[in-house]
Amino acid sequence: MAENKIEIIRHSTAHLIAAAVLELFPNAKFGVGPTVENGFYYDFDLPRSLTPEDLPKIDKMARQILKKNIKFVCQELDINEAIGLFQKADQPYKIELLNDIKKFGTTDVNKQTEIKELSNDKVSIYTLGRFVDLCRGPHISSTQSLGAFKLTKIAGAYWRGDEKNKMLQRIYGVAFENQQELSDYLKLQEEAEKRDHRKLGKELDLFSMHDEAPGMPFFHPKGAIIYNKLKKFWLEAQKEFKYDIIICPSMLDVSIWKQSGHWDHYKDDMYFIKADENKTFALRPMDCPGAILIYNNSLKSYRDLPIRYAEPGLITRKEKSGQLAGLFRVQQFVQDDAHMFITEDQIESEIKDVIKLVKKIYQPFGLEYKAYLSTRPDDFMGDIKVWDKAEISLKKILKDVYGDDYGLKEKDGAFYGPKIDFQLKDSLGRTWQCATIQLDFQMPLKFNCKYIDNDGKEKTPVMIHRTIMGSFERFMGILLEHYAGALPVWLSPVQVYITPIGKNHFKASQKIAKELESFGISVLFDDSNETIGYKVRKAEKQKIPYILIIGDKEIKSKKLNVRMRGNIVKNMAKKKFIDKVLKEIKNFL
Ligand SMILES: [Zn+2]
Ligand SMILES: [Zn+2]
Repeated sequence: MAENKIEIIRHSTAHLIAAAVLELFPNAKFGVGPTVENGFYYDFDLPRSLTPEDLPKIDKMARQILKKNIKFVCQELDINEAIGLFQKADQPYKIELLNDIKKFGTTDVNKQTEIKELSNDKVSIYTLGRFVDLCRGPHISSTQSLGAFKLTKIAGAYWRGDEKNKMLQRIYGVAFENQQELSDYLKLQEEAEKRDHRKLGKELDLFSMHDEAPGMPFFHPKGAIIYNKLKKFWLEAQKEFKYDIIICPSMLDVSIWKQSGHWDHYKDDMYFIKADENKTFALRPMDCPGAILIYNNSLKSYRDLPIRYAEPGLITRKEKSGQLAGLFRVQQFVQDDAHMFITEDQIESEIKDVIKLVKKIYQPFGLEYKAYLSTRPDDFMGDIKVWDKAEISLKKILKDVYGDDYGLKEKDGAFYGPKIDFQLKDSLGRTWQCATIQLDFQMPLKFNCKYIDNDGKEKTPVMIHRTIMGSFERFMGILLEHYAGALPVWLSPVQVYITPIGKNHFKASQKIAKELESFGISVLFDDSNETIGYKVRKAEKQKIPYILIIGDKEIKSKKLNVRMRGNIVKNMAKKKFIDKVLKEIKNFL
């Protein structure tokens, strides 16, 4: 379970918290306490609901236990002996887990396929003071070796994730090797909270969510401007890389999803629309079948390949309401998708081109990224030789482009082919998985895609599925957090804010505003009666890149005082200012 040092520390801290809960609630029943990213949780069945005020009490008790420097003691027991021990302690959840181990050899409900009846098997029990836990370990030797931790929140969680089971109380915490690492993490969290795109979306009036369409963002005028600029930037890049843009319906007959295999792998995550007794449509969870129908619409020759169909396609996927998270996890979104139909010989050059396109799209945002090769999973489809060949060629491509600077994700490929994933790093050092390039040998077979080769014979093309931003919605969310809302000039919905100091300056200010607008610069002209200080603060809060305040001095000297996100540049010639803004816009759009 826990492999490296920090994982062991985190999981051992979960035991410590459980021991503290046992001191405060002697009748507590214990669920499980695994590690999660940056920390751990533990699930409890308690006689009363926990409140946020309980966390400091549990924390205090945990630190008292920690100070006593108690050892983690491991003991091997026969399963039946262990069951007896937990029966005596009245721990029904542990007994349930042990019975599963006895019956199936595992506590993982997804892997309980064959009955094993392992009544002679040994299990390990860890004891920390009065707290005894069924656990594979390993653990640190004693509480003295624990790192720095902080309890973060309480949540409800169904036993074993099943809503038919009892709701338990989950305590989350974070843990690190030392205080410095914990402080750094907490500081980063605080900064991340300030930049939360849901918060910024509200403050900057970009988008909102409504119960009438859960997980489907409503973009307000300014948000729609950003969204469309991102899309335009993406469309221009597709043009440059010689993609053809296609547009397909966002609902298709259910039969095609059966043919594509999505029905088998995905139907629980799809929305269906019954048209009449004999006809059911599905809202598309992926774009692939549409591109295939267009490809198959006419006979293709080797001379036509590679065919590159790009589609900003509207996708709908069912998500549980608890998993929805602003623009990061939505039910409806537009994927910046593309499907290529190519010959086997074209794999290398096509993928190298996609890698160039990834760079083209990420670079303007100063986003670092790293490529990962995901190889054949256990449940792969197709010929193992074809897989091997494809993996070798992807490795060669990655080596050519990145040397040794790429990662490997063993057995993480799609069931239909290996893939290259890209992980982005934002300005806070957080990583996001966005772009993916997937080789597919299966779908062209399923849909009987063909081309006539130069020897006159029918052959099956290879397909590449690729996306770069992932979706416009999610990418916009990432950018909002990456820039803390202060988007680059070209993406900003309002680029220049202009206001006159007094009534006498109204005409001259309006003239400048109109002139800027005539160059395609987006301007907010504010002639309201508020004080200049108030107006500047308002514009800064809206993260508008440039603020111009026009008074006697500016009119007389014909020079501008330009506020640029905190910096003030005095006496800038108007033409110089316009050229500067235009340059910042035109490099991208
Ligand atoms: Zn443990
Ligand atoms: Zn696809």
